[in-house]
Amino acid sequence: MTNSVDADVIVVGLGAMGSQALWQLARRGVGAIGIEQFTPGHDRGASHGESRIIRTAYAEGTAYVPLVKRAWKLWQELEQTSGRSLLDRTGGLMIGPADSSVIAGPLASAKAHDLKYDLLSADDLRRDFPQYLVTDDLRGFYEEEAGVLRPELAVTAAVDAAVASGAEVFDGTAVREIVPDPSRPRVVVDDHELTARHVVVAAGGWLRQLLPSTAGLITVERRVMGWFRAQDPAAFAPARFPVFVRCDSSGDHNCYGFPSTDGATVKVGLHTWPGIYEPTDPAAGHRPPDQQDAERFADAIRGTLLDVDPYPVRMTSCMYSLTPDHHFLLGPRRELPGLTLLGGFSGHGFKFATVIGEIAADFACDGSTRLPVAQFDPHRFA
Ligand SMILES: Cc1cc2nc3c(=O)[nH]c(=O)nc-3n(C[C@H](O)[C@H](O)[C@H](O)COP(=O)(O)OP(=O)(O)OC[C@H]3O[C@@H](n4cnc5c(N)ncnc54)[C@H](O)[C@@H]3O)c2cc1C
Repeated sequence: MTNSVDADVIVVGLGAMGSQALWQLARRGVGAIGIEQFTPGHDRGASHGESRIIRTAYAEGTAYVPLVKRAWKLWQELEQTSGRSLLDRTGGLMIGPADSSVIAGPLASAKAHDLKYDLLSADDLRRDFPQYLVTDDLRGFYEEEAGVLRPELAVTAAVDAAVASGAEVFDGTAVREIVPDPSRPRVVVDDHELTARHVVVAAGGWLRQLLPSTAGLITVERRVMGWFRAQDPAAFAPARFPVFVRCDSSGDHNCYGFPSTDGATVKVGLHTWPGIYEPTDPAAGHRPPDQQDAERFADAIRGTLLDVDPYPVRMTSCMYSLTPDHHFLLGPRRELPGLTLLGGFSGHGFKFATVIGEIAADFACDGSTRLPVAQFDPHRFA
């Protein structure tokens, strides 16, 4: 019997979060192995579709602001390390009634953290952003510190940077089981076992299948993104059309979108919308988009954007891993010694991936982190 291990840390799942955890571990000189069932940058999880929004005055809670600030810095470091352009700062526009989460939320974060912003009246919106259909009850919250991340490229850049710093990657390799242990957790792949001093589990929608004790913490739902032809694409170029989120007072209708990156189309997604909440089994794969998805989009586009064809030229399905309070799960759980969980990103995790990677490396190496993660304690629902 030997105490040797195959790696100091094994990272299970190399999507948005696992790829960044692997990079952060490797750049610290930790012997790390990353295991991915598909190929990094694939389109079967939650980290595809060409674009993700990053914003700073955080609508979902003021406590996220220090994390997103740190994430920006690490995105820039990854751009420098990889030599790839991963992030465009386009500014961000939140549109909704004054009491909606997309106006009241960012305003609270901006005030708590002394962030710069502009509040816009309905007339300001019509004058500065004529691409939108604006009713008199709407207000705008604009911040410069927002933009577009390129998800597939970000995942592969982090994996490549990790490998360049000494990490090993096994792709096309499905983990069948993770056996917790305080000092020597084990990861079962194919016909053999790997041991480590610590295991980071970043399996996205597959988390509850790999670790059944987390099943009650996460529900997995399908979401669809669509691309829409703009009649005057120049009006939707990044310099004139910031990333946006638009929501009503109830929160029942929340859509978001991106400037045109291909000179022809604008991408839009539905975060909340009647009829979209469809549980999905990641093992079975995303159900492909259909005519009902196109009709919902047409409804959203007609009520939001001017001079954009309401029916999509293409669509793709993706998945949200939702916790009961829509905040993340970060850290250890008592019944899973030797493991750090990164999960439940509830449809808004991508922008934080770099700092989540840093938090994972802290937990794996030191057992704790100095970054503010108390609200993400995986035990908070007990
Ligand atoms: C439509 C949509 C729009 C979004 N928009 C935004 C946005 O604008 N801004 C934002 O910040 N966030 C956004 N998000 C959320 C963000 O994309 C996710 O929070 C993030 O991508 C989750 O990353 P993850 O690493 O947890 O999951 P994934 O990227 O799915 O990674 C999990 C990985 O684990 C692997 N894996 C699972 N099981 C195993 C196993 N047994 N063995 C080996 N590998 C395994 C999977 O193959 C996968 O690669 C959006 C999400 C969706 C779906």
